[in-house]
Amino acid sequence: MGTKGRSIVGMDVEVLLNLLNRAFADEWLAYYQYWLGAKLAKGPMKDGVMAELLQHATDELRHADLVSNRIIQLGGTPVLTPQDWYKHTNCGYDAPEDPYVRVLLEQNIKGEQCAIGVYQELSKITREADPITYELALQILNDEVEHEEDLQSLLEDLDLMVQRR
Ligand code: FE
Ligand code: FE
Ligand code: MG
Repeated sequence: MGTKGRSIVGMDVEVLLNLLNRAFADEWLAYYQYWLGAKLAKGPMKDGVMAELLQHATDELRHADLVSNRIIQLGGTPVLTPQDWYKHTNCGYDAPEDPYVRVLLEQNIKGEQCAIGVYQELSKITREADPITYELALQILNDEVEHEEDLQSLLEDLDLMVQRR
């Protein structure tokens, strides 16, 4: 922990750490949901969907890395056990029980919409109080917005393909 770095945060650092840990838990669950979904996907446009899901899995893991670095920088401890991901998560976990591409896309779109809300909120809270976390939240928010659009346009293509066959 950098003491000066921590002292310039203009809000309750414990509150901030709690928000960061919640986002951290979300990222791991999102990572696993994408990673497993990419392996299980079945149906039309499977290859394209799998590639996108796998790419998003990689992004979510990178987000977990970024968020954990900020937690440690602020003197906190990233959630220590997978069981605790469930206690902290905002967005939860949707098991890919039905591997049909449409269902997977819909589940993950829901997850992205939740993530967009989480980072929008985090960026709002930190905008003045903690420019470093603000920049981080904005950077991740950018990715989540891109993820939602990627998945929604795949869903659109899937619908066009199924309709016109
Ligand atoms: Fe993410
Ligand atoms: Fe995402
Ligand atoms: Mg993408």
